[in-house]
Amino acid sequence: MSQRYRNQPVFKPQEQLSFDQIEKEYHTYYCAVCGAIALVTSIKLDELLLRRSDNAYILECDQHYHKKFLSKQTKFTVIHRETGVEKQYRWRCKECQGVVGYQTYEYEDTDIIVGPGSASGKNQQQMQEDRDNRKHFYLKSNALVKNAEDSELLIQAKEFREQMSR
Ligand SMILES: [Zn+2]
Repeated sequence: MSQRYRNQPVFKPQEQLSFDQIEKEYHTYYCAVCGAIALVTSIKLDELLLRRSDNAYILECDQHYHKKFLSKQTKFTVIHRETGVEKQYRWRCKECQGVVGYQTYEYEDTDIIVGPGSASGKNQQQMQEDRDNRKHFYLKSNALVKNAEDSELLIQAKEFREQMSR
């Protein structure tokens, strides 16, 4: 195992994380519309690069551990870009069905944790060889919030409660 990966948070991909581990080493994000849990990652979203075409965060699947609490769209969506046609396999919030992110290759894994060393992750040599063919999970820039309290639904609920108490 390379030095680089040794410094990353360690857990076995199939293992259930304890709440303490999640709190300490991982970043949890919630749907910006309804506040449902959406994603846990080993990297902060604001540390990720942005995709030029739509400003989506680029999460490199083989580089960072992440788990999606999202549902797959049944069919891909076709997007017309200046560079051509793009197929988007979208991931939606399980509660409100809002689009949170997408990938441009077919769905493969389901609910498993993905990252370096995991079943669908790659070792460093494979990653070097595959440099031009990395798998990306794109996250819409305003789809997630760091605190569920910042979601539209909970902000509205709070405003409503304040109005009622006047
Ligand atoms: Zn939602």
